[in-house]
Amino acid sequence: MATPNKKNKYDISFEVFPPKKDGEFEAAFEILNALATHDPAFISVTYGAGGSRSGKTVEIASYIQNKLHIDAVAHMTCVGSKKDDILAVCKALKEQNVSHVLALRGDRPKDMSDEQFASREFAHANDLIDFLRRNTDFTIAGACYPEKHFESFSMESDLNNLKKKQDAGASFFISQLFFDNDYYYSFLEKADKKGITIPICAGIMPITSSKQIGTTVSLSGSSVPKALADIIAAYGDNPEDMRKAGIDFCVRQIRDLQENGVKDIHIYTMNKPKMAAEIMANILR
Ligand code: FAD
Repeated sequence: MATPNKKNKYDISFEVFPPKKDGEFEAAFEILNALATHDPAFISVTYGAGGSRSGKTVEIASYIQNKLHIDAVAHMTCVGSKKDDILAVCKALKEQNVSHVLALRGDRPKDMSDEQFASREFAHANDLIDFLRRNTDFTIAGACYPEKHFESFSMESDLNNLKKKQDAGASFFISQLFFDNDYYYSFLEKADKKGITIPICAGIMPITSSKQIGTTVSLSGSSVPKALADIIAAYGDNPEDMRKAGIDFCVRQIRDLQENGVKDIHIYTMNKPKMAAEIMANILR
């Protein structure tokens, strides 16, 4: 089994984030019910930076796994965690029958001192993957970066580190979002040359407002191609037209990937089921 669940010709999976407040779970479950109608290969659930709110990730993952009977992939970061913290989250996931995790190092929290960062128990994601492989029977995924991770000085070194995640026991990768497919195609070629053989799900985020692009680019470091910049310039001031044009760009991006043989596509849904439905209606399954 490569990615968690192989039913359709094209495996489309979704990312959601857990609710920020306890009172928002019912609304989150409604969003998940709507996403489930598209028969996704799996749904991944993000993890609060530094491990905050891990209980919410477990609760949402449990709903996906046990109520919707779709494989849940729980994200997990380790930068600020001790081994016992990680084992506690693993136990909570196991109790909820969740057996897939996306193992991440995570970003350094702003309040973490140089000393704390230097002496962290898990230096990199491959250390977490190795730890999970030795201590659990989870299926483990890792993150990858078609335009390289921002801390890496070269794509070459980032790919060498990516290979360590595969060697440590990752079964598949999920990519950082990108808007220009050429970066992804070139990344696949380079990864192949490095001996990376496990599937690499293409991470796609629809841009439906001009405000969203600034935050997204600053968080991901992804390049904005001229075609997308032109859409924002033309429609940025008109929310409804911008939304339509953004979804259309996303559909064209996914169709291009599919026509070029990419089977595993991971949509960052931002908890917007209507937007996801419009995309799903226009791509191949
Ligand atoms: P790593 O794989 O450890 O890589 C980090 C840097 O260290 C890279 O530059 C890499 O080249 C280098 N490196 C890796 N291994 C080694 C090594 N052995 N020796 C030397 N250098 C090494 N963050 C959250 O807080 N919550 C989430 O839910 C979340 N979900 C994400 C989902 C996806 C699909 C992606 C792509 C990212 C997600 N992130 C999330 C962000 C992620 O935590 C950050 O990008 C973080 O900075 C790196 O995490 P990583 O697991 O890729 O780290």
